[in-house]
Amino acid sequence: LPASDSSAPLTVMGAGLVGSLLSLFLARRGHSVEVFERRADMRQGGAVEGRSINLALSDRGWRALEAVGIGDEIRQVAIPMYRRVMHDAQGNLSHQPYGQDNQAIYSVSRAGLNRTLLTLAEADPRVTLHFNQQLAGLDMRARQLELRDTTTGQERQQPFRRLFGTDGAFSAVRSALQKTERYNYSQSYLEYGYKELNIEPGPNGEWLLEKNALHIWPRGQYMMIALPNLDGSFNCTLFFPYEGKHSFAALQTPAQVQAFFEEVFPDIVPLMPELTDEYFRNPTGSLVTIRCFPWAFDDDVLLLGDASHAIVPFYGQGMNAGFEDCTVLDQLMERLGDDWHAIFTEFQQQRKPNADAIADLAVYNFEEMRDRVGDPRFLLQKKIESRIAAQFPGKWMPLYSQVTFSHTPYAEAWASGQLQERIMRRLMSHIQTEADYDQPEVQALVQQEMAQRG
Ligand code: FAD
Repeated sequence: LPASDSSAPLTVMGAGLVGSLLSLFLARRGHSVEVFERRADMRQGGAVEGRSINLALSDRGWRALEAVGIGDEIRQVAIPMYRRVMHDAQGNLSHQPYGQDNQAIYSVSRAGLNRTLLTLAEADPRVTLHFNQQLAGLDMRARQLELRDTTTGQERQQPFRRLFGTDGAFSAVRSALQKTERYNYSQSYLEYGYKELNIEPGPNGEWLLEKNALHIWPRGQYMMIALPNLDGSFNCTLFFPYEGKHSFAALQTPAQVQAFFEEVFPDIVPLMPELTDEYFRNPTGSLVTIRCFPWAFDDDVLLLGDASHAIVPFYGQGMNAGFEDCTVLDQLMERLGDDWHAIFTEFQQQRKPNADAIADLAVYNFEEMRDRVGDPRFLLQKKIESRIAAQFPGKWMPLYSQVTFSHTPYAEAWASGQLQERIMRRLMSHIQTEADYDQPEVQALVQQEMAQRG
C-alpha cells in the first residue's frame, strides 16, 4: 500500500485499553481503522481477566474518555476514592485526602472499561476489529505484517499503510523497531513482585472496609493496597520482595502465609477467607520499567501506551499516561492535518520527556506508599502542604495533585514537585504540630520562601 494512499485504512496492533481508545480517536478524525488483537474477544465470556482487576482512573484518563463521549457511561460504574486510608500493624487507621473536597481517583474495572471501549469502537462503521490475530513478524520497510491466527495457527501476510503499536509492555511492534540502527532500549525490573488477593463483600453485598478510599497497609519494605469494586468486594495487591526474610521466597506453605498475614495484616485476615488458596493459585507478577526511543519509524510506525513506556503501577498512571498519549496525538492530528511525518515527530518529542518523568515518579511513589505514608511526620508534612496550597491558591499545588488532578505535563509536574519538596524540608524543621503553621515566625518563613519562588 503506498503511504500516500489516504483512503487505505490505518492499522492498530493490540486492542487493550490504549489500542481500543486510539482506534476511536483515529476513526473520529475520518480514518478507517483495522484493529488486530491477539486475544479472543473478551466480551464473549470465558475470556480470562488480564492483569489487575481494577485500576485507578484519574483526570488525564477522564479527559480522553470524555473526548470520545464515554465519560458519563464510565462514571456510572466508577467508584470515587477520596482518600488514602492507612492500616497499621495494630489495625489502627489514619487518613489522608488525595486532594481538595471533591477530588478523587476512581476505581474502575479493567475488563469492563476495555469491553466498553471495544463495543464503542465496533459501533463506529470506520473501525473493524479482528480478534485472535497475533503479530508474529513485521517488515517495516516493505510495510508487511505477519499475522498468526491463534485459533488455527495459520499465518498470513498483510500489507499496512500506517501502523500504531499499542501491543503493551512486551510489544512485538517495538521488537521490530529495536532491530533498527541506533535504537535505544532499556528495561529494569524491581526486586518486588505483586500478587492479587480478594476481600469478600459482606453478607448483603456491603463493603467491609470504607468504600470510597484506597486502602494501604504500609510496612516499610513491602505493602498491600486495596481498591473497591461495585459488588462490595475489594481487590488487594500485595507488593512484596522476591527474596529475603519477608518475601515470596520465604512463604512456601499455606501455614506460613496464614501466620505471616495474621502477624502483619491482622485486621484484614478475617475478610479474606480464600487467602491461602488465592495466594498459591494467583501468579506472581513482575514489575518492569521500559524505556525506548525513537517511538516512530519514519511516518509508517508509531508506538503508544505501554509499548513505548511501561512503568511500575505505584502512581496509578500507566493507563492514564497511555490515554493521554491518545489525547496528545489527537491534538496533533487536529493541528497538523495529514502531515503524518510532523505528527509522529512532534508526538515523540513532546511525550518522551513526560513518559520518562512519570516512570521516575512511579518508582518514587512506591517508596512513599510502602514506607513514608506510615510515618506521622510525613502525614503532618502533607497537612502543612495543603495549608500552603490553600493560602497561596494558584501558586502551590502538591506534586500528587499535579500528577493526578491536572494536565500539566508530567516532566513539569516532577520538576516543580522537587522544588516544593526542598521548600517543605526547610519549613518542616520549624514545625512540630499543625498549629505551628500559624506561628508568626513560621508564617514569615513561608512568606519568604514563596517570595523567593516568585
Ligand atoms: P495493554 O493493556 O497491555 O494491552 C496490550 C494489548 O495488546 C493486549 O490486549 C494484548 O493482548 C495485545 N497484544 C500483545 N501482543 C500482541 C501481538 N503480538 N499481536 C497482537 N496483539 C497483541 N494504570 C493506571 O492508570 N492506573 C492503575 O491503577 C494501574 N494499576 C496497575 C496495576 C498493575 C498491577 C499493573 C501491572 C498495571 C497497572 N496500571 C495502571 C498500568 C496499566 O495496566 C497499563 O498502563 C495499561 O494496561 C496499558 O495499556 P496498553 O493498551 O498500552 O497495554
